[in-house]
Amino acid sequence: MIDATRLESDLLLLYPDAGPELNFTTDYELLVAVILSAQCTDVRVNIITEELFAVADTPQKMCELGEGRIAQIIHSCGMYRQKAKALYNGAKILLDEYDGIVPDTREELMRLPGVGRKTANVVLSNAFGMPAIAVDTHVSRLAFRLGLSDEKDPFKIELDLQKVFPMSSWTKMHHLLILHGRRVCTARSPKCQDCSLKSYCPRKGLAHVSDKKSL
Ligand code: SF4
Repeated sequence: MIDATRLESDLLLLYPDAGPELNFTTDYELLVAVILSAQCTDVRVNIITEELFAVADTPQKMCELGEGRIAQIIHSCGMYRQKAKALYNGAKILLDEYDGIVPDTREELMRLPGVGRKTANVVLSNAFGMPAIAVDTHVSRLAFRLGLSDEKDPFKIELDLQKVFPMSSWTKMHHLLILHGRRVCTARSPKCQDCSLKSYCPRKGLAHVSDKKSL
């Protein structure tokens, strides 16, 4: 097992400003942006939310906008019909049951349409400052290549990472692993020769042959 402290400090040197790349100014905007980010790039989501938040930056306004108009605005996003339904129905739940306020527990967040454990973890950590490791495709891939987890299931990977890193590092490691996965340890062409972790990465130069099919 590689030294988690060294890994974290090396990644912090590389990405000292690591943090969310989605644009948001409120808890609700963050929730909406993360729901939209499923199978869509953060760059695309930020383009979409600039238009969406101009007319609907609260659950009340999202309800008033209506599912059809939401779908029109977010149509360049993958699975836009399902996401429009989730945003509309989720806004109604927030208004009816939470006075329009985004709840701060995983259980309540995961009751909202379009919100799974990963989305709930992103909201809990970035909106409410609760330690959480959201496991997306980049975190899964990096966890495997760095020898931090051999699991395929995102929840089991999350549990493995929770054991490797102290709780105070969970949120930061989520951002650091994502950035390294986007910029260096990419899915198809990992830049091992240019990677700052290559001296101790167990899969340096082997990522392609050792990756699991699911990654
Ligand atoms: S050495 Fe290669 S496989 Fe390991 S983290 Fe760096 S890019 Fe990824």
